[in-house]
Amino acid sequence: MDVVRQPNHGWIEVIVGSMFSGKSEELIRRLRRAQIARQRVQVFKPEIDTRYGDAHIVSHSDMRIPSETVADAARLLAGVRPDTEVVGIDEGQFFDAALPAVCNALADQGKRVIVAGLDKDYLGKPFDPMPQLLAIAEYITKTLAICMVCGHPANHTQRLVVSGDRVLLGAQGTYEARCRRCFDPALSGPAGPDVSGTGDAGDPGGGSAEP
Ligand SMILES: [Zn+2]
Repeated sequence: MDVVRQPNHGWIEVIVGSMFSGKSEELIRRLRRAQIARQRVQVFKPEIDTRYGDAHIVSHSDMRIPSETVADAARLLAGVRPDTEVVGIDEGQFFDAALPAVCNALADQGKRVIVAGLDKDYLGKPFDPMPQLLAIAEYITKTLAICMVCGHPANHTQRLVVSGDRVLLGAQGTYEARCRRCFDPALSGPAGPDVSGTGDAGDPGGGSAEP
């Protein structure tokens, strides 16, 4: 039997990890490969991610790919063109609970869906809807950063400022990658040191250069 890519045979790939682990870089790398193969690619990111302007997904290493910004998962689904073959989604953790169903629908239509996102929040808790996406994905890639304290593989995102808000897109120095031993969720809690003020935690889009 010839190896032929079956039409209408889609699947879901998820790339998860802490901040600074290269998730967006890996997403962009896969999307670029698809573009080189002349596949029709669409890339989306959530409206909440206002870093670097609206028109691109940009990795920390400054790789970039044009993207469309959508307010929620339903609008993402509505924005996918019928002839699109590959759908890339960055910052999946900032989407609503409908994202897994939307990804399922797109994969059922025969599209390759690639989602990158944080699997855990600043307290180390699973960051919805990424756990639900991991459960339905055909392929999962876990990226690890390097602990900025001790140099071991890092699976956690350490918030360095005090804030109880789950979403806080801060300036540079707001977060760092930490390993299991060096990660300390209490550092960002009410009892933690107020190293640089709480910032305006209610405004996740507020003038940030780093996630
Ligand atoms: Zn460490």
